[in-house]
Amino acid sequence: NRALRRVDAATAALRDDIDRREAVEVQLRQRESELVGFAGIVAHDLRSPLARITGYADFLREEAAPRLEPLHRDFLERLYGGAQRMQSLIDDLLDYATADNQDLVTAQVDLNRMVAEVVRDRVSGHGAQQPRIVVWPLPTVDGDATLLRQVVDNLIGNALKYTPEGEDPSIEITSRREEAGGWRVEVADRGIGIPPDQLDTIFDAFIRAGGSEGYHGTGLGLAIVHRIIERHGGLVGVDSNPGGGSRFWFSLPAHARLVAGTGATERIV
Ligand code: ADP
Repeated sequence: NRALRRVDAATAALRDDIDRREAVEVQLRQRESELVGFAGIVAHDLRSPLARITGYADFLREEAAPRLEPLHRDFLERLYGGAQRMQSLIDDLLDYATADNQDLVTAQVDLNRMVAEVVRDRVSGHGAQQPRIVVWPLPTVDGDATLLRQVVDNLIGNALKYTPEGEDPSIEITSRREEAGGWRVEVADRGIGIPPDQLDTIFDAFIRAGGSEGYHGTGLGLAIVHRIIERHGGLVGVDSNPGGGSRFWFSLPAHARLVAGTGATERIV
């Protein structure tokens, strides 16, 4: 009997410990949300003064640059470049805040259509070398269309960005049913890849992997992807080899159905 009581006491202590940890986690999550919300407000307020800087700098580049000394023209380009980088940071911070705290507006989302649109936009903005993007049939899922579009756009954008210029940009997007009934969507590229010891932190905010120094970025894109998928009840992950490309994936829980065909057997883009 005493043994049983001891087990009971140990179980109760363990339960208390778990409750305490959960409470701390909830608090941390709340704190993080507050910080992200605050960053969103600051980013929003920085938008108009920054638009003014970019606007005037751009005007000077167009109108006054021919009359400027080379050194001053160089300063102007740096000013404009810096303002543009700040602009992407502000945009990403706003997207992160939205991904974190805006209510989800759920509807049926046809990922085939969504991916086709994102690919079209991305390819038209791409340089001379047309990327080869292969898309296999994707499911229709329940989710927030605006946010899921951002997931798809960030993953495809990264796949294109981290494929060095001059190399064959080749991307493949596939989906498959998971054992638990949900869907997994994968975006695979043949780009620079990610060092194995950095795979664990790559979805954290502001973290950039070794090898990405030459590419513009804020380190927020994957954190946005992570948060959006987390809010849909799904998971994210990546398999990658430096030099051998990356395969990013996200999963969405069940109540999704495949519209085109019954499996990844038919190429649609
Ligand atoms: P950003 O691209 O703005 O730096 P992200 O959060 O989208 O930020 O990505 C974080 C980091 O993950 C990148 O800096 C890069 O090191 C790495 N990464 C993301 N996508 C890829 C990819 N497709 N191939 C190689 N590295 C990638």
